[in-house]
Amino acid sequence: MNTPTAPSYEPEATTGGGTEATTGGGTATPAQTGNGTATPARSGSGTATPAAAGVAAALPRPYRSYVYAYPHKTAYRPLTDRPALAELSAGEPKDALSLYAHIPFCEVRCGFCNLFTRIGAPDELTTRYLDALERQAVAVREALGDDGPARFATAAFGGGTPTFLTAAELTRLCDIAERRMGADLRAIPLSVETSPATATADRLAVLAERGATRLSIGVQSFVEAEARAAVRPQRRADVEAALGRIRDTGVPVLNIDLIYGIDGQTEESWRRSLDAALAWRPEELYLYPLYVRPLTGLGRLQDPAAADRAWDEQRLRLYRHGRDHLLSHGYEQVSMRMFRRADAPALGPDDHACQTDGMIGLGCGARSYTSRLHYSFDYAVDMREIRSIIDRYTETADFSRAEVGRPVDAGEARRRHLLQSLLQAEGMPVADYTARFGGSPFEDFGAELARFERRGWLDAEAPDGLLRLSPEGLAYSDGLGPELFSPAVRAAMAAYEAK
Ligand code: SF4
Repeated sequence: MNTPTAPSYEPEATTGGGTEATTGGGTATPAQTGNGTATPARSGSGTATPAAAGVAAALPRPYRSYVYAYPHKTAYRPLTDRPALAELSAGEPKDALSLYAHIPFCEVRCGFCNLFTRIGAPDELTTRYLDALERQAVAVREALGDDGPARFATAAFGGGTPTFLTAAELTRLCDIAERRMGADLRAIPLSVETSPATATADRLAVLAERGATRLSIGVQSFVEAEARAAVRPQRRADVEAALGRIRDTGVPVLNIDLIYGIDGQTEESWRRSLDAALAWRPEELYLYPLYVRPLTGLGRLQDPAAADRAWDEQRLRLYRHGRDHLLSHGYEQVSMRMFRRADAPALGPDDHACQTDGMIGLGCGARSYTSRLHYSFDYAVDMREIRSIIDRYTETADFSRAEVGRPVDAGEARRRHLLQSLLQAEGMPVADYTARFGGSPFEDFGAELARFERRGWLDAEAPDGLLRLSPEGLAYSDGLGPELFSPAVRAAMAAYEAK
């Protein structure tokens, strides 16, 4: 797979708790999300302290956690009542569902990665895994019921590395999505993650023929020494060859993931990677800050003190350099991490775009969202734990119930909407929030928004009615996001024991 980032679990002081990506749905909080304090911060009115170029003392650390979904899986807990999926889906809108299939296998374990994935899977395990995924698809489709048409609007295969599967296995995965779930893959956006070593012509041909509209490849760095330093050794020539094969498929959107903040990386070496990526004119680029997380390869090797101010400054510097370089080369910023070529078609999911409910996740690391509950299976980062969770998944016969998750109440739904909209460069129309929830974000999140405004994180030039981050606010996305977590979600995350 690609992304290094995904879930980042950084136990953290300030806001109460590490995080990671997320999904789940917080609870406990009073339906009014809003801790309310009054001071309505007006998005446009700000005075605001222009955030300094460096890491100002008054500012929180910029890299606390990547919030790509809320609440994070570390806030999930076993659901003692094991609700039936049929009950959960009753009354939910089913006309624009998202389908996500998680393939938890990789050929190597990158040092920065704490995604749910294992290496060294024998052939028979991938077969057993797909057998289980097919059983799950049958159960989930049945639970969707026949009380209205169930229609999928987008699909994605992620991981891990979906192209760890052979071409024949990828064919089977597409068959499961189409025949068992009813997703018309050739008619909807289909995004698939891949890696340089597994992006082989036969696999890519299957994906292109089945309707893939976006192929996303984790390169991380085109500089071999940096790839080694991030514990992802790879030859530049192999990366270039894989990119050539991807372009040969004619799939319309190529995304390349790169990482900044690697030991020894300079503005000059970072620009070399950016330019090597730009040579392929990718429709999308994701620039990820490096995180060193507990239980990942780098986490074991390095002194935790490596996550210090100097590293923050290096990452902020490289972020700004990368952002400015892409903006001057015809790219638009979609979020802190995501950049899209201005003339490219938008055929994949946006960063943080899972704004609405109605996500169907297949596979043992996938999350599913309904309006009331986010759920998944057990979660781990440590390889032994991951192996046993995958083994349990492949042995599961009954997929008709949700096992691990977190209820989402009205307050958490508001938080989720604000969080995921605010982290988009285009910002959040206040009217959308009001139409969905009633009230105003300035009433519900007055204290937080006032704080963001004081820090210079809100765009004082945004048109009336648009709540939008300033460039500095966007740069601090990974510090700002966790400040919007509810106390209940923070507490659950803080109590989570990494395994
Ligand atoms: S270990 Fe796998 S999922 Fe993690 S970054 Fe590397 S290729 Fe991607």
